[in-house]
Amino acid sequence: MSIRVIEDKCNGCGLCVKSCPQAAISVEPKKMAIIDVELCNYCGSCVSACNFKAIAIEIEKQAQEDLSQYKGVWVFGEQYKGKVSPVVFELIGVGRQLADDRGCDLAVVILGDNLDEAVADLAEYPLDKVYVYEAPELAQYDGERYSRVLTDVVRELKPEIMLAGATTTGRSFMSQVAIKVYTGLTADCTGLAIGKDDGLLYQTRPAYGGNIMATILCPYTRPQMATVRHKVFPTSPKRTDGATAEIVNLKAKPQLFSSRSQILDFIEQCEATVNLVEADIIVSGGRGIQDPSNFAQVEELAKALGGAVGASRAAVDAGWIPYCHQVGQTGKTVCPKLYIACGISGAVQHQAGMSSSDMIIAINKDPDAPIFQIANFGFVGDCLEIIPMLTKRIKAMRGEA
Ligand SMILES: Cc1cc2nc3c(=O)[nH]c(=O)nc-3n(C[C@H](O)[C@H](O)[C@H](O)COP(=O)(O)OP(=O)(O)OC[C@H]3O[C@@H](n4cnc5c(N)ncnc54)[C@H](O)[C@@H]3O)c2cc1C
Repeated sequence: MSIRVIEDKCNGCGLCVKSCPQAAISVEPKKMAIIDVELCNYCGSCVSACNFKAIAIEIEKQAQEDLSQYKGVWVFGEQYKGKVSPVVFELIGVGRQLADDRGCDLAVVILGDNLDEAVADLAEYPLDKVYVYEAPELAQYDGERYSRVLTDVVRELKPEIMLAGATTTGRSFMSQVAIKVYTGLTADCTGLAIGKDDGLLYQTRPAYGGNIMATILCPYTRPQMATVRHKVFPTSPKRTDGATAEIVNLKAKPQLFSSRSQILDFIEQCEATVNLVEADIIVSGGRGIQDPSNFAQVEELAKALGGAVGASRAAVDAGWIPYCHQVGQTGKTVCPKLYIACGISGAVQHQAGMSSSDMIIAINKDPDAPIFQIANFGFVGDCLEIIPMLTKRIKAMRGEA
């Protein structure tokens, strides 16, 4: 991208100087504007402000590629300590459907170390290939390193579609891959389909706080990349024909392992985080819980229902419960069958992480709390009275009283 002042149009009026939020433009009296490209962030304010069309931003066009070279559907095989993440098996299910509709192969690409068990597990699913990058340098997730290796193989083997779970890992490094290969990425998809007429990947995701569903296409660049939420698609069944996927071992170039980050320590996620993302039932507490000791009530209700414990950021920030329980924009995105929000107002940032739950029950003493706008059922009242009653009733129904 470049920016330039067109000499014979600029009269040094200074309108651009006032419009620039970066203070990147200067004009000496009766002289042409000068743009400091070190400061300029190419926001385009000066282009709009100039009455004389004297400033232009130019975007260099990428060379037009032959998109027919790109073939196949790939799934990123996210794993932790050699155990494949459950979302991968969901992506294999939808990926198989997409590959069949497109008439192409389905592959998983997995990065890590000591992957024998993970690869053997994957090979039992209806995949055509498993691409394996195994190296000690890939043992622990490093976004920079992982994105370099994946970018390299994407450039070389040219998949047409690339899917990854909308997990912390998938979200953080797939965008880096997309930038490196100059393509688009639709994050947090809840629907995927191949267009009947154009063969493109139709990527659907909630937008504007879930008020509309946007279907996004990537017609001009490849691969078409998407991250997909947990539990949106059913887990793929294993193969029944006894065949197994072809295992292709790949070797990454050592220079791809360089990284500006250094892992100093690895803090294990608390058990609940794993459960939270995969849980079918979540009971979450917010500031309305009032005291850290009252989280025991939330935990007891979650236990009675066989669910996991979540929290709002207010509860986490107050130090009532560890961050790994946080649901929302800066916490986990969850899609359980049942989400019970106790003493949570339902701020838009909280909703961002839980609004796609199948059923939402809210307990809040304020009848106007925003959470009631998305709740299927609501209790207006004191959660510290309602939660124990609910727990007691559920235990009684289960004969556990
Ligand atoms: C960039 C950014 C990112 C953010 N990310 C997140 C995120 O990931 N997750 C998140 O949750 N928030 C996030 N937030 C914060 C968010 O805006 C809210 O501040 C937060 O969700 C509020 O938490 P809360 O609902 O527990 O508290 P409050 O908004 O204070 O609501 C407490 C609720 O409890 C009710 N209440 C009080 N006492 C009782 C009682 N005895 N019984 C029943 N109800 C009672 C009140 O009526 C009220 O509705 C983010 C904010 C920003 C700016």
